[in-house]
Amino acid sequence: MPVSTTSHGFKFHLSSTCRGHLTSAKSPLIDELKRTIRDVNNFPKPGIVFKDVTPVLLDVKLFRRAAVAMAEPYRDAGITRVVAIESRGFLFGAPIALELGAGLVPIRKPGKLPAATQRVDYALEYGTDALEMHHDAVQAGDRVLVVDDVLATGGTANAAAQLVGGTGAAVVGFSFLIELDFLKGRQRLQGRRVEALLHYA
Ligand code: AMP
Repeated sequence: MPVSTTSHGFKFHLSSTCRGHLTSAKSPLIDELKRTIRDVNNFPKPGIVFKDVTPVLLDVKLFRRAAVAMAEPYRDAGITRVVAIESRGFLFGAPIALELGAGLVPIRKPGKLPAATQRVDYALEYGTDALEMHHDAVQAGDRVLVVDDVLATGGTANAAAQLVGGTGAAVVGFSFLIELDFLKGRQRLQGRRVEALLHYA
């Protein structure tokens, strides 16, 4: 069974099953991403398998293809805002926002955003955490796509959706590069549309 720990306010997952087996249909893009994403064992703490996406960013063509593929399911969804979760969500949220012709909204840890913010507190396995968004970045009538690099337990993405939902905007769906299927994070996302390029069973 996977267990979780926290480090620097983020939750990471210790799991003997997190070995990187792809369960989705094979495609050249999926295969190339699989080969490029780096598993870093014991980071940031012993026992953690960290999915390091930074090698993808070094390969211009692969990075572009990944961002386009993450945007693709939502191309006709009328997205007006892409909400990107600190910090690796920013890396994929920005090109996806450009691809969809939508505004980009960073969601950050408390105290990082300069102007007035709205805040959501959410439970971790041990303790709580919080996210903030500029109060005027998303408004009622906006159609929002939430982006992050990894969907694990879904706690972070669900908190982001709560923050967006509090504005009266519609959370149309989520787009992740990686879904750690065995953590069942999509179950916490309340039946909304969840898309991920890579699945690890
Ligand atoms: P969760 O709230 O459990 O879905 O965790 C998601 C957040 O934690 C995302 O922002 C991820 O970047 C990060 N995260 C969780 N597990 C991992 C992992 N194994 N490798 C890399 N990032 C992770």
